[in-house]
Amino acid sequence: RAKKHLGQHFLKDLRIAENTASAITGHFGTRAVLEVGPGMGVLTDFLVLSDWELTLIEIDTESIAYLEKKYPATSMRILQGDFLKMPLRELMPPAYVVAGNFPYNISSQIFFKVLEERDSVTEVVGMLQKEVAERIASKKGNKTYGILSVLLQAFYEVEYLFDVPPHVFDPPPKVNSAVVRLRRNEVQALDCDEKLFFRVVKQAFSTRRKTLRNALKSMGGGADFSEDSLLDLRAEQLGVPEFIYLTNKLKASWNR
Ligand code: SAM
Repeated sequence: RAKKHLGQHFLKDLRIAENTASAITGHFGTRAVLEVGPGMGVLTDFLVLSDWELTLIEIDTESIAYLEKKYPATSMRILQGDFLKMPLRELMPPAYVVAGNFPYNISSQIFFKVLEERDSVTEVVGMLQKEVAERIASKKGNKTYGILSVLLQAFYEVEYLFDVPPHVFDPPPKVNSAVVRLRRNEVQALDCDEKLFFRVVKQAFSTRRKTLRNALKSMGGGADFSEDSLLDLRAEQLGVPEFIYLTNKLKASWNR
């Protein structure tokens, strides 16, 4: 029986599982794949067909027992635990792909975790609720454009791959789903203080209907900062380069 509190919706449609697995490109020559929430292994069955170095992380002990029986004596690693709390830097090689049909109750948090691990996560191929997929892939000027869009697009090329209807899952979720692919861009580091960039973006969207001048007031920029005409706009009107610009300008005004 599916456990609702763990976001368990098992995929029934093998073609969709296959298409999701084959969307992984091994960007930058990456061979290691971490699957989040393998469940009964519907997606895993297709991942094992390629020669990825597989690590599965699944929180549900019943699924773990099932997977260990299903894949005996294979080279894959099967780990029990909460993906959000796993010490990925100790467990995973310096470059790896994150893939999975994600537990929807934590899909945003999975992407924040990916951002923390952005130096190692070269690619993400994930199935998640369509609404979050749209947010992640959204461009400036759109209603759905937000914190995750800016932060992820600063480090990844984001592609919205295809829609997935509810009836291909058991049990069917209440919402539509989609598969996205993110591939790390060539930028090693942003041209600004990255920690401050994260703070500025989060603060900018905290009151999305206000001008940036109002939204960022609490960050204490000096006059040279608060007079910048970009601050007449709202957060959703700014792309990554403009947020980098504002981050640098804010920091410079502090140091004056
Ligand atoms: N991959 C399987 C499929 O496509 O049929 C299952 C997908 S189901 C949407 C999500 C899976 O993630 C479930 O097996 C659930 O137990 C697992 N899960 C939920 N929360 C988790 C967490 N914090 N860390 C790791 N796995 C988790």
